[in-house]
Amino acid sequence: MNYVNHITELIGNTPLVKLNNITKNIKANILVKLESFNPGHSIKDRIGISMIQDAEKKGLLKKGSVIIESTSGNTGMGLALGAIKKGYKMIVTMPDKMSSEKIDILKAIGAEVIITPTNVEPEDPRSYYSVARNLEKKIKNSFYVNQYDNLSNRKTHYEKTGPEIWEQTNGKITHLIAGVGTGGTITGCAMFLKKKKKNIKIWGIDTYGSVYKKFHETGIFDKNEIYSYTTEGIGEDIIPKNVDFKYIDHFEKVTDKNAAVMTRRLAKEEGILAGNSSGAAIAGLVQLKGKLKETDNVVIIIPDHGSRYLAKIYNDTWMKTQKFI
Ligand code: PMP
Repeated sequence: MNYVNHITELIGNTPLVKLNNITKNIKANILVKLESFNPGHSIKDRIGISMIQDAEKKGLLKKGSVIIESTSGNTGMGLALGAIKKGYKMIVTMPDKMSSEKIDILKAIGAEVIITPTNVEPEDPRSYYSVARNLEKKIKNSFYVNQYDNLSNRKTHYEKTGPEIWEQTNGKITHLIAGVGTGGTITGCAMFLKKKKKNIKIWGIDTYGSVYKKFHETGIFDKNEIYSYTTEGIGEDIIPKNVDFKYIDHFEKVTDKNAAVMTRRLAKEEGILAGNSSGAAIAGLVQLKGKLKETDNVVIIIPDHGSRYLAKIYNDTWMKTQKFI
């Protein structure tokens, strides 16, 4: 019989698919890594299980512990899968701009969800970071995972995602494009890939309303760069420990509108129903296409599945309200 013993054993080894239509006017070979094929439909399944295992090894998680995490939704799902396997209770704090599907999915798999205001500073006691931190203080035998500063996050991508990309491209990858949220994906993959081949270009996708691009280019943390935006999962108002800027060659900012419109094109023109940040990454690629040549092999991370955005990106009324169509 051919089966696995638990759903979490299906995490990783995601497929690499060539884009054909959107990329017609781009000289290079463009490949997308479909992290939506993970059992929880996002790249965060990978770090969910590994952050739990690392916390257990350090004695931070014990029998009966409560796992707490601040998340845009996907990490909550990844952690919840691990929590089910190991028998932990899971509490998630999430900003109110995130899609209703993400909230319902988390509840469906048994997590308690606390919704917090999006438009407050990270230090504000109402922010999703602060609420999670305070819960850890209040609840006995609880553990705040903190994917932003917990280095198990990028280690997972160094040990798993990076090597997968290297093997799938037979070492022929020339560019990696990934949205940057916690920075775990891009930094972990880059640490591995640049060790294998120093001149692989690593391009991070950022949003308008995020501090990353300016910080990378000037070293200035400019609070004026921070304002609310609709794109989910990428851009930050803090500098997480998981981002190591020396591995990132360039940050490209993409507008909310371009990200949303490109997410829809990915579904219509390539048959790939992906999330909001995937559209941002492809839109970033299009903005940067002048830097590519025929012999290049570009890998773009598709972090999550489009089913999480049916009431937003794939809903005409929402798109019109945002003036995106
Ligand atoms: N896209 C989506 C949809 C995400 O949820 C995240 C994680 N916040 C990212 C991209 C960015 O990944 P990372 O946190 O590893 O930088």
